[in-house]
Amino acid sequence: MIVTFGPNAEQSIIKSLLAEAARLAIGNRELRFADGSVVLGFDKSLPPDAVASIPAEQVIHAHRPYMLASSEHRRRSVVRVGEVEFGAEHPVLIAGPCVVESAEQMIEAAVAVKAAGAVMLRGGAFKPRTSPYSFQGHGEHALQMLAAAREVSGLPFVTEVLEPEQVEVVAAYADMLQIGARNMANTPLLKRAARSGRPVLLKRGFSATIDEWLMAAEYVLSAGNPDVVLCERGIRGFDPAVRFNLDLNAVPLAMQLSHLPVIVDPSHGTGLRGLVQPMALAGIAAGANGLIIESQPEPDAALCDGYQTISTEELALINRRVGRLAEALQDEEMEPTGEALALAGV
Ligand code: PEP
Ligand code: MN
Repeated sequence: MIVTFGPNAEQSIIKSLLAEAARLAIGNRELRFADGSVVLGFDKSLPPDAVASIPAEQVIHAHRPYMLASSEHRRRSVVRVGEVEFGAEHPVLIAGPCVVESAEQMIEAAVAVKAAGAVMLRGGAFKPRTSPYSFQGHGEHALQMLAAAREVSGLPFVTEVLEPEQVEVVAAYADMLQIGARNMANTPLLKRAARSGRPVLLKRGFSATIDEWLMAAEYVLSAGNPDVVLCERGIRGFDPAVRFNLDLNAVPLAMQLSHLPVIVDPSHGTGLRGLVQPMALAGIAAGANGLIIESQPEPDAALCDGYQTISTEELALINRRVGRLAEALQDEEMEPTGEALALAGV
């Protein structure tokens, strides 16, 4: 059962409802949004008299399993990272190198992606590499380089955390924690990242269903952290012509099933430099709230993922085109006819 309250709800009512659930041994969790609204999720329905007289906004008995992430009680959420807003009017552009290589590279990249229109930086400090012999990232030293690049550029940064034990150190530096595709279902990591209080960028696993992805988001929300941004980054296909298939169905589907913002990663989603721009635009056309793109001034010199890294000139072009596209799409307000829910079987 889901019970929601508006920003001005009496806190004692919320407390007593949670206490009543605890007394009846019904699992319960509470999630508070920045706008002051509150959602309570119960493992099963409370007795009718427990909810009959309380001034709740909504009481929903039948709902999807990811009750806190579901759009059944909340249409859209805005997630803030400093001044950056995911899910507000303008798509967010995150850019930077795949991996942090040196302080100079990171500062140069930060200044260049900012000039190209990015509002947030990316860069890997702890890298999940397929081969144990590949460069694994500079670790905490790279976090310091990212912090220096933030200082110079003024851009907040997102970086990946690989293990629960790393959460504390990464959260001490980063503005947003990235949970990578290979770790989407690492539940101890999700819970620890949630408790850091930092917003979480949750990439979809490359063989994860939409439901599994949303359940992973639910781990973060159910630990009391409402700030989750979903990222579609491509799923495994059969054709080695591309590294991954960017699943753009996932964008409107996740946005119809959930209230969380969704962004697109056309770099890992294609694995080919030449496909990044068209698929970035397609992601925005599909309704995404932003993009995360691998870009640096000298893509060919990149230590990691250079073949999918674009120049900062091309990033600037994408930014201009995204601006025009987003504006064109805002001219009329109407959701597609019929929710995807029936088709998704939920
Ligand atoms: C990345 O963004 O650097 C990365 C490794 O992404 P993913 O987890 O989507 O492969
Ligand atoms: Mn990469």
